[in-house]
Amino acid sequence: MRRIEYIVIHCTATRDDATVEAIQGYWRAVLGWRNPGYHFLIDKAGQVHRLAPLEKVTNGVRGYNHSSIHISYIGGAGGEDTRTTAQKASILNCIREVIQTLGYQPVIQGHRDFPGVKKSCPNYDAVSEYSWITV
Ligand SMILES: [Zn+2]
Repeated sequence: MRRIEYIVIHCTATRDDATVEAIQGYWRAVLGWRNPGYHFLIDKAGQVHRLAPLEKVTNGVRGYNHSSIHISYIGGAGGEDTRTTAQKASILNCIREVIQTLGYQPVIQGHRDFPGVKKSCPNYDAVSEYSWITV
């Protein structure tokens, strides 16, 4: 397993009813990505779609992907935090699962918390929201 230093939280910055297929199609066709943008993609109902195994590098934050696991909720259009209660719970479950799998706790932060990032993604303060989590 590669060394993971970050669990990064994202939003897709789409409508909250965007489909997983449409999002993946955008990555492939428009951005030309071979790998998905995130390891976990969580729909409005809270269902977790696993797009890549943790060993695999995905495209969440340029320059940090080799040491990151990426988790995203579908939604966040217009810079708003559109998470449903089910999405909030599923994000937390994914974070917990990653920590358990790794056996240690990486830094948990939002996309926007990396240096030089101009986006507001994930549209909430992930650092403070998950600051209580400990191994
Ligand atoms: Zn992001």
